Amino acid sequence: MGSVIYKVCPDCCFIKPLHEFYIDSSCKDGHGRVCSECAKKKSKEYYDANRDEICKKKAEYAIVNKDRIRKVKAKYYQRRKREDEK
Ligand SMILES: [Zn+2]
Repeated sequence: MGSVIYKVCPDCCFIKPLHEFYIDSSCKDGHGRVCSECAKKKSKEYYDANRDEICKKKAEYAIVNKDRIRKVKAKYYQRRKREDEK
């Protein structure tokens, strides 16, 4: 049995076992800086704070790539049509 490694989360200041941290290969110990609970909370906060921005970016992407999206869709439908005619 291996010993459980503990780590302090700088956000909630709790000492938690390493498995309660997200896996992050860019970190020295292979786990993220904050615990998974805080990371979850943070990403939700980020989404709530930037919801308008995220929605705008999505809409912009759809407008900028309208032709490309249409072409991909047309290709898809053509292929399906051809397969239906078989
Ligand atoms: Zn935490």
